[in-house]
Amino acid sequence: MQANQTIFVVPDMSYNSTLRIVTVEPGGLTATHTDKLRILVNFGQHARELVTSEIALGLLRVLADPARELLTLLERRRVGSPIPMLELLAKSVWKVIPLENSRGRAVVEAGRFCERRNGRGVDTNRNWGVDWGKKEPDYDPNEEFPGTKAFSEPEANLVREAAVLFQPHIWINVHSGMEALFMPFDHKVGAPGGGGAAASNATLAMLAGVNKEVFGGRCVVGPGGKSVGYLAHGTATDYMHGILKVPVSLTWEVFGDESAAYEDCYRMFNPTTREGLEAVVDSWTAAFFALLSRVPDHMGMPRQFWSPQLAAQVAAVRARDGLGLTRPAVLGSWGLAPWMGASLAVVAFFVVLFRRRGRSRATHAAQ
Ligand SMILES: [Zn+2]
Repeated sequence: MQANQTIFVVPDMSYNSTLRIVTVEPGGLTATHTDKLRILVNFGQHARELVTSEIALGLLRVLADPARELLTLLERRRVGSPIPMLELLAKSVWKVIPLENSRGRAVVEAGRFCERRNGRGVDTNRNWGVDWGKKEPDYDPNEEFPGTKAFSEPEANLVREAAVLFQPHIWINVHSGMEALFMPFDHKVGAPGGGGAAASNATLAMLAGVNKEVFGGRCVVGPGGKSVGYLAHGTATDYMHGILKVPVSLTWEVFGDESAAYEDCYRMFNPTTREGLEAVVDSWTAAFFALLSRVPDHMGMPRQFWSPQLAAQVAAVRARDGLGLTRPAVLGSWGLAPWMGASLAVVAFFVVLFRRRGRSRATHAAQ
């Protein structure tokens, strides 16, 4: 485990922020992470969602000593089976950002409990370059001011830089306000279709499994924009998915008290009892490992992590369809069942197709 800290100063020097990233490789630190499963997790993006950083500490505690902490956690929460999970952990590297928005957090700690933006009033989860700056009819600058341009803010730049260098397979942006497991898109209704449909279906199945196993099915699961009830523009998760091509890009919402008064933000976004806090930290720490245990079933993950069943399914489809098939009939079968059309040639076709779409989305967002 090692920690690094970087600083970003805006060009006119009027504002800056530092970002601390903790890197954990349960199998031992290595110089390159090429063959590892790479997971990037972000906490504390919105200032008032204090509880998220507590979960960061819960996760780090387990990652620091998985042989002991993971076993007791899984037993306590009745989640997963430890041996395959420990094996997968040994092949993984985690970069954990315990508190992205440290300047906003200081504002909250000084007593402004409803502040969610950064130290100069910008929502750092509206400052990213996909569909940046678009406003919904109920737009409130006190909540969602997206900045003067995409990536105007140090926080968004620092996290993007970390992702570009690390090239994660999984990105999880942890928030509070409700209980939900979200996937793209945030800025429009629905999940990725066309070439992205198969991976999207696999992600949805992954999240539904985590929801059932850890939360008894009580979380909202699905695309963020559709499931949360409002569209969000310029979010980190849409950028990770659309531009950086992170195969599994997620936003988790870990707690919400809908009975809290509108002005009682502390209570709305954070548990107020010790037992409540411990339950949130424990269950969401377990959720990371419930997700990890489903990596071998997701064909968007690197091939060396596939389960024998998934590898066999892909091989069977390959043998049936032969290499080089990219007929529309085969494409259609992907939308119906994730594994049906999984010849490698089709996968390659989708990668090309999806990259093209991603680029056109980026171009559109920049205009
Ligand atoms: Zn939030």
